[in-house]
Amino acid sequence: MDYDIVAGVGPNKVLVVGAGKSGLAVARFCASRGAQVTISDQRGPNELGSAMRDHALRGAAWELGGHVLETFTSADLIVLSPGVPELDEVKAARARGIHITGEVELASRFIQAPIVAITGTNGKSTVTALAGEIAMHTGRPTFVGGNLGTPLISCIGTPAASVKGIVVVELSSFQLETCETLKPLAAALLNLTPDHLDRYEDLNAYGAAKLRIALRMGNEALVVNRDDPFFYEATKDRWNKYYYSTRQRVDRGGFVDGAELVLALDEGEERYPTAEMNLIGRHNQGNALAALLLLRASGLATPAQARAGLKKFQPLPHRMQLVGEKRGVRYYDDSKATNVDSVVAGLDGFPVPFALIAGGRHKGGSYAPLAAALRANPCRGVVLIGEAADKIARTIAENPPAVRAKSMEDAIVQATAMVGAGGAVVLSPACSSYDMFDNYEHRGRVFQAAVESL
Ligand code: ADP
Repeated sequence: MDYDIVAGVGPNKVLVVGAGKSGLAVARFCASRGAQVTISDQRGPNELGSAMRDHALRGAAWELGGHVLETFTSADLIVLSPGVPELDEVKAARARGIHITGEVELASRFIQAPIVAITGTNGKSTVTALAGEIAMHTGRPTFVGGNLGTPLISCIGTPAASVKGIVVVELSSFQLETCETLKPLAAALLNLTPDHLDRYEDLNAYGAAKLRIALRMGNEALVVNRDDPFFYEATKDRWNKYYYSTRQRVDRGGFVDGAELVLALDEGEERYPTAEMNLIGRHNQGNALAALLLLRASGLATPAQARAGLKKFQPLPHRMQLVGEKRGVRYYDDSKATNVDSVVAGLDGFPVPFALIAGGRHKGGSYAPLAAALRANPCRGVVLIGEAADKIARTIAENPPAVRAKSMEDAIVQATAMVGAGGAVVLSPACSSYDMFDNYEHRGRVFQAAVESL
């Protein structure tokens, strides 16, 4: 199909469904290319804030507080935002053969640069940012964004989107659902754990959406987590694969050997010392392997550039971020870990004795894997906060010992008393934050402020 319609050739009625960050970026892009843009959103004008005053959208029509069937069925192109469900209006338009796409698919048609794409349940942002850091060390103009940060479509027209650039993009399963022609030069499948199952029928359907990242890939490098049973099985018989593992050696790809990350590439072996990384935890060794493979297997970066990027990279805010050291105790903010899986991953292979601060609003599911991870790693005790405190305490059953705290400040004082110099206090809640905080960022900031005032 031909998206030149947004270049103002032929009919050009574009309907953007969903006035979120990426929807508005699509609307601006299409408007700048002369399309006649309508933005439709369930939300009313009062909920949209300043978006309607955007100068770049002054020519656009707004259809708010619901959708109008006629707008859908008379559009030339409909661009759906990632969170939009299969609306009746969309079904009707589909039945009429109207082109329906998403921001990433549309954007990718205008990008000449090689695309490095990342998807998975956990670790996407970390791998994307790290791959972006390595890409920047190549000296080529680099865009880093997608599901995290800046919408992909915003890079069009910048040097990063030209043949000379590199585009590193994080993709969610929702974004991948509407991808058809996207063909990354390198892509990574990180892991698949139950999440978003409110939207997908089952894990297979969720995984199938993520696998769309490789739909058009042939000889391009597909980086696959060997330790993830779903992606390992699903990619077995196809693609030019580079496996990575934190548990075993692989013949082609990446693995951990003592204090080194090893890449086994066709042209030979490369070693990267983990001591040079500012990332901790076994999961981050996997993340680093994925990022290194993306840039090395594709040939986009040299080994020296990859090593320099790895060394320079700092963890993203609230992801096992070292936020202070007081009297020999290190404080880590992992507030982004809002589910049990991500806490378990973060604590696996934790290098020093630690006390954990956990709790918040219960999200469903069992804390048994958390209790097991605490016992398998050098955990000296747990301080519980928030609504889920009792539930977590029952599962941990005093092994290791657990206490309650009323506030983050109190939690930090109690946790500090559990570890000596050389130890660590880790905020990794396994719960959402909404019972005590605005969001996980707010929770992390309160933790950081309390550490500073110790
Ligand atoms: P995403 O963008 O996929 O949410 P992030 O990089 O923001 O991923 O990390 C989110 C949380 O997931 C962090 O708290 C971290 O502890 C955990 N995490 C990071 N990488 C992994 C991984 N490879 N496997 C499991 N959990 C991870």
